[in-house]
Amino acid sequence: MAKPIPLIERYREFLPITDATPIISLGEGGTPLVKASNLPRVLGVPELQIHFKLEGLNPTGSFKDRGMTLAMSKALEAKASAVICASTGNTSASAAAFATKAGLPCYVLLPAGHVALGKLAQAILYGAKVVPIDGNFDQALDLVRELAEHCQITIVNSINPFRLEGQKTAALEVIEQLEKAPDFLFIPVGNAGNISAYWRGFKLGKSSGRSDSLPRMCGFEASGSAAIVRGKVIEKPETIATAIRIGNPASWQEAERAASESNGLIDEVTDEEILAAYQLIARTEGIFCEPSSAAGVAGLIKHLKKGTVSSDATVVCVLTGNGLKDPDTPLKVSKPDLTPVAANLKSLREAIGL
Ligand SMILES: *Cc1c(COP(=O)(O)O)cnc(C)c1O
Repeated sequence: MAKPIPLIERYREFLPITDATPIISLGEGGTPLVKASNLPRVLGVPELQIHFKLEGLNPTGSFKDRGMTLAMSKALEAKASAVICASTGNTSASAAAFATKAGLPCYVLLPAGHVALGKLAQAILYGAKVVPIDGNFDQALDLVRELAEHCQITIVNSINPFRLEGQKTAALEVIEQLEKAPDFLFIPVGNAGNISAYWRGFKLGKSSGRSDSLPRMCGFEASGSAAIVRGKVIEKPETIATAIRIGNPASWQEAERAASESNGLIDEVTDEEILAAYQLIARTEGIFCEPSSAAGVAGLIKHLKKGTVSSDATVVCVLTGNGLKDPDTPLKVSKPDLTPVAANLKSLREAIGL
């Protein structure tokens, strides 16, 4: 087996790395691009080429690791003494893991009661100092910014410029895996950093001769947190998709530019649409992503109906995080009957009807 190459090494020519940068890697990047087998037929568009970028297979289970490897490496290079972030969960898990690898203390602020259990578990076990805030993500991020003005501490949220630089590598991987750029990219939008990073990556892919075309960038906010769609800050963002429960996206303008420059769009999907897509991906393709990740697929379904997407297009849906992070939602949406069956063949056959 070939030795895994740190993402920073693989895309070194595109990243702000010097010989003095220590590389903090946990085996991030290089995630599979898996082609859908059943979903196009189920959606009534058998010629549609749907590919899933499985970002939940990164070391801490989300795409945040792509940005964190670079942010943490640069923090160490700059002799940072500690790192801090506000997080809806995945940034905290990633920051905590990479900070530990770098030997740096890590502080994470989380909106109390609105973080999926697996993400909280990760941050705790990786050894971060976890501070639940009696407020939402946007308030937690404001606090982090305020604290950083008073203390020597490096912010590793996506306002850290190295985060998006690392995240753009995902688009370069997609181009390698498809051997071209897709026609459309469908992606959830929370703080709007990832859609911005992908757009940087696709533009770089084209300017470096790795692809001939650019995709139309299609980003989706949850209806209860759709600040960009509404054109105003949402003071009390709500959605079951906690990773995109953000009312004042940090990369708002860059995301809007990505959508307009690419002839794409930023639209919203409801919690019902998100949960329907979440179940459909699992049941048609055997892929377990977290609810927020399904927002892009919900958007694809919405825009197939609207006719935005032609029925033979090549589409990539970014599945941003691993479903195992959020073990509560499957039981809520499926309400399975888990009453035990007597341990004998007759009862078993009755129970399964065989
Ligand atoms: C962070 C995150 C998002 C949102 O990405 P942004 O860059 O904030 O738009 C979506 N899905 C998951 C699973 C995430 O962790």
